[in-house]
Amino acid sequence: MAERVTIIGSGPAGWTAAIYAARATLDPLVYEGAFTEDNRLKGTLPLGQLSLTTEVENFPGFPAGNMAGYLDSSIDESKRKYMAPHGGHGVSGPELMELMRQQAANFGTRIRTDDIVEIDLSKRPFRMKSLGGDEFESHSVIIATGARANYLGLPSEERFKNLGVSACAVCDGALPRFRNQPVVVVGGGDSAMEESTFLTKFASVVYLVHRRDSFRASKIMAERVMANPKISIQWNSEIDEVLGSEEKGVTGVRIRSTLDASKKQELPATGYFAAIGHTPNTDFLKGQLQTNAKGYVVWTTPQRTYTSVEGVFAAGDVADDYFRQAITAAGTGCMAALDAERWLAAQGIH
Ligand code: NAP
Repeated sequence: MAERVTIIGSGPAGWTAAIYAARATLDPLVYEGAFTEDNRLKGTLPLGQLSLTTEVENFPGFPAGNMAGYLDSSIDESKRKYMAPHGGHGVSGPELMELMRQQAANFGTRIRTDDIVEIDLSKRPFRMKSLGGDEFESHSVIIATGARANYLGLPSEERFKNLGVSACAVCDGALPRFRNQPVVVVGGGDSAMEESTFLTKFASVVYLVHRRDSFRASKIMAERVMANPKISIQWNSEIDEVLGSEEKGVTGVRIRSTLDASKKQELPATGYFAAIGHTPNTDFLKGQLQTNAKGYVVWTTPQRTYTSVEGVFAAGDVADDYFRQAITAAGTGCMAALDAERWLAAQGIH
């Protein structure tokens, strides 16, 4: 028998869709992704990008700082006594994702730790195959596979992956090779700000290489970086080459000025972190859904999560190259579950 709703992806969008679909008694099935080396290198492991981040300061309901103290001071004692005790801080990305996953599981969501590698959207019910060999049909699908970090595409980046090249400071920053050593971050958005700030915990100095003379990042995060004495900003600069050897891995980078390409400089570093934006995880769709110029799935109707194929809904970063926040992903995950529920009901599938 075909599934009623299959959710592909396990970030805030996927789990929120699962919570809503499960509570609507649709018995959702979530493919949360597989723990493969390929997924690790691409940054597409289960629980999505938030599981690769540190503190989440902007998800409503989780104020940073001492949560227990905050609750004591902000919520009336008569209500406090009914609340479970809480640990000493706000919430981290991995914690938030585990909490969402647990919440979905509590309502009966079935979870498969596997990747969907093939999907046929040409006829309904839709047919899918997983990496682990599952083959099944589903009346509706919610695509919530998110996006992954980009690299510049230099051969020298490829050569030193796992030898000092990374797109995730939070995953790799604490490794011994970066301790008390100079490291390089490239980019000028919030990711670059977050990664640089995080790396100052371990590195002796963080060279932040940005191609322009101002940051794209939010003001608060950019100001934090500019005030940090351990971050040396290299304005108007691009990475020419990642330098290193097979034995030592990354030993530095050569940068060139964007104002005068003949001006080059070498910076010593044991690490190189790319923080230059994202690519949506749509490879498995093989062009079956309409996408925009950057490859993000297109929502075809305002205020709906409908895609170009009826019965297929999209939520979170895979369809959003503009907001790309945990809370907006969760919001569209909720919308996708409600859209799927109503669409299934209209088809007489309950
Ligand atoms: P982004 O905002 O798209 O920024 C990408 C940065 O990389 C830009 O500064 C861009 O330079 C630079 N860049 C892109 N291609 C490049 C290339 N080929 N060579 C050199 N530089 C290049 O991406 P992001 O920082 O990953 O952020 C994505 C979204 O996630 C944003 O909405 C952001 O707010 C959100 N986010 C939020 C948080 C947070 O709130 N805690 C943390 C991380 C990310 P230009 O500026 O010159 O284009």
